[in-house]
Amino acid sequence: MKVPLLDLKQQYQALKPELDAAVLKTCESQYFILGPEVEAMEKGLCDFLGCKYAYGVSSGTDALLLALMAINLKPGDEVIVPTYSFFATAGVVSRLNAVPVFVDNDLVTFNLDPKEVEKKITPKTKAIIPVHLYGQSADMTAIMELAKKHNIFVIEDGAQAISTQYRDGQAVGTIGDIGCYSFFPSKNLGCFGDGGLVVTNNDELAKNLKIMRVHGGEPKYYHKVIGGNFRLDALQAAVISVKLPHLNSWSSGRRKNASLYSKLLIEAGVAEETGKTSFDEKNKILLPKAVYKPEDESTGYESEKLPNYHIYNQYILRVEKRDALRDFLLKNDIGCEIYYPVPFHLQECFADLGYKKGDFPNSEFSADTSFAVPIYPELTSEQIHFVVEKIVEFLKSN
Ligand SMILES: *Cc1c(COP(=O)(O)O)cnc(C)c1O
Repeated sequence: MKVPLLDLKQQYQALKPELDAAVLKTCESQYFILGPEVEAMEKGLCDFLGCKYAYGVSSGTDALLLALMAINLKPGDEVIVPTYSFFATAGVVSRLNAVPVFVDNDLVTFNLDPKEVEKKITPKTKAIIPVHLYGQSADMTAIMELAKKHNIFVIEDGAQAISTQYRDGQAVGTIGDIGCYSFFPSKNLGCFGDGGLVVTNNDELAKNLKIMRVHGGEPKYYHKVIGGNFRLDALQAAVISVKLPHLNSWSSGRRKNASLYSKLLIEAGVAEETGKTSFDEKNKILLPKAVYKPEDESTGYESEKLPNYHIYNQYILRVEKRDALRDFLLKNDIGCEIYYPVPFHLQECFADLGYKKGDFPNSEFSADTSFAVPIYPELTSEQIHFVVEKIVEFLKSN
């Protein structure tokens, strides 16, 4: 049986008539950059996420870069970021000649640890970028408290978490000053190329975001500030508008799959429960856990009927012999990917920041042991049973 890590063709086939029509309609209009399709998509996402302003941009990376430009980040300013995330989270800080300050991640949620954040705050700290990694919210209560106390901006990296709800039901990305999302095809809401979104509830920041998306010209050709070309194509916006109404059902499909994986792995005796953080005889594999949900909903496996407390952009497992298991799965036609093998503090391009191995043990542990198995909503239960069977086979003989 073949189980790809992601199969976007199934989603396309299911929506093909609507998607094709939306693309053709854009071709007929010959209106390709920003314009009415982009505005309609932005309005749809404001309503969906519950925020005041949303602007389509050229990618998730550009969403982050634009957000930092909109808060007027200056060379030498410090921005606190988790050391364990996708590269863009830290790359955008350095591109503006500011200094990324790394912190370790929480072992259960994979997200930045607020206690570690507080230790790194200095008079130069201008912003914190919490990442809602793999589709689960960071600890926004603690992060917002710290930001308020020290007068620091919070830029949420929600690239993997569009539609994730925090414990009070608020959409992640709309809690901090600016939220950033990606429409990269493999994200939960993906377009047909590169695309992204910035959101805010702040009138002043909204004005900056909107102007800086088009080179900072306001009116056109008159520049008080310097921006960039961070525009979104109408084609991408049209695709997003077709897909958005399906996002919640896709997320519940992912939760259902996550729940089945965890249940089967526990029943097979290789793990005791979700959310464990160290290996022993009864826990040869560590299972992810959705943490930020109300107490009365936090027992047992996650149900697909729950709101989106974790939307599983990735279902991340951790094992000691990770590389050998990955090779074994790939040999059995099971898609498997390592997110992320090297934390930022050990990346060559950040060597001059002076970090060393051992500085962030939790992130290094996750980088050494984590891997993703297929979780996309169209997976069948037979496919999930097959993946689990192969993982268990490996763990029993290694
Ligand atoms: C994908 C991703 C980005 C970047 O988005 P692009 O659209 O690929 O530029 C940023 N941060 C995180 C955490 C991501 O997963």
